[in-house]
Amino acid sequence: MQKQKRVFLSSPHMSGKEQKYIQEAFDLNWIAPLGNNVDGLENDLAEYNNIKDAAVVVSGTSAIHLALRLLDVKAGDNVFCSSLTFVASANPIFYQGAIPVLIDSEMDTWNMSPVALERALTEARNNGNLPKAVIIVNLYGQSAKMDELSTVCEKYNIPIIEDAAESLGSTYKGKKSGTFGKYGVFSFNGNKIITTSGGGALVSDDKEALKKARFLATQARDQAVHYQHSEIGYNYRMSNIVAGIGRGQMEVLDERVAQKRVVFERYYNAFGNTDGIEFQPELEQTISNRWLTALTINPKVTGVSHHEIISRLAENNIEARPVWKPMHLQPLFENVKYYQHEEGNSVSDYLFEYGLCLPSGTNMSLEEQEQVIEIIKSLLGK
Ligand SMILES: *Cc1c(COP(=O)(O)O)cnc(C)c1O
Repeated sequence: MQKQKRVFLSSPHMSGKEQKYIQEAFDLNWIAPLGNNVDGLENDLAEYNNIKDAAVVVSGTSAIHLALRLLDVKAGDNVFCSSLTFVASANPIFYQGAIPVLIDSEMDTWNMSPVALERALTEARNNGNLPKAVIIVNLYGQSAKMDELSTVCEKYNIPIIEDAAESLGSTYKGKKSGTFGKYGVFSFNGNKIITTSGGGALVSDDKEALKKARFLATQARDQAVHYQHSEIGYNYRMSNIVAGIGRGQMEVLDERVAQKRVVFERYYNAFGNTDGIEFQPELEQTISNRWLTALTINPKVTGVSHHEIISRLAENNIEARPVWKPMHLQPLFENVKYYQHEEGNSVSDYLFEYGLCLPSGTNMSLEEQEQVIEIIKSLLGK
């Protein structure tokens, strides 16, 4: 009884150029595992982000895992991570047997609070258990307060892994998102701003480190004709076919950012002046790719909760979702330390309680978006 074509939060949007790169790989029989598309996509990513090197892998999650390995994170080590994120930011901490410590958000970007981070680091130093790394997430395309966060991390000499899985194409003070930490991570999962059907990348200015990442990602084979291994490796490398999709997608990345921002503008024009609705802010001197349009809705003022909006949209075959459920509220992270923005003020709890992500696909039609807006308008003020 499908009423109409489903409208997704964010679905794959091909450029039409992907097939050309895949065909090339077939013509050369460069199907597996590496090849010119892998090299090409790595070059495209490094050039686009103005960074020295990029290594493409099977997922954003595997890229985070490699970053932790490169930073020598071992069992029992502490790793700090944004609490308000998708679980993939933090799962690799567990892969290493390390201990996550979760840091709250602040309201200006919805990302890691420099105040909470400072408090957590001071306490860790006093207890003699400073973390091996801090994983900073850029939620829904918006960069975290990288200057403030970097200053705090530098003070304690802790390397940053920037989880830019959602913020490819965004900028912070003119510099590309994902290039602020020792390592940056991108994802090409199916719902991200560009996709390879599944994939990710690790970027860094440290070419030697990325050489090591490629080594670890291909089963850590030592230099020898026979198969010899002295370290634990993984099978994490992106295939040449998948990388072909990525090359076709990179050609339209800036176009996709512009389209996402138009989607945001339309929602903003519809609800920017509605009492009780606040859009995720765009910090001064930053440009968000607006991967997803996210907002908070206060039912005491608007008369409708985000749950009601989500279910009404679902009845019309339209996907909308709450903001990520913070890690400190997940059963998986029971007993994990969590640092609120301020004592008694957990910003990520607030954002989860009221936050809503609206369908933001770049291939969503104007009519479809207008329908979303009409449905929400019909619920407001009831
Ligand atoms: C999508 C995502 C990831 C993981 O990327 P995969 O390619 O799906 O493994 C990591 N962190 C965040 C914040 C994400 O949104």
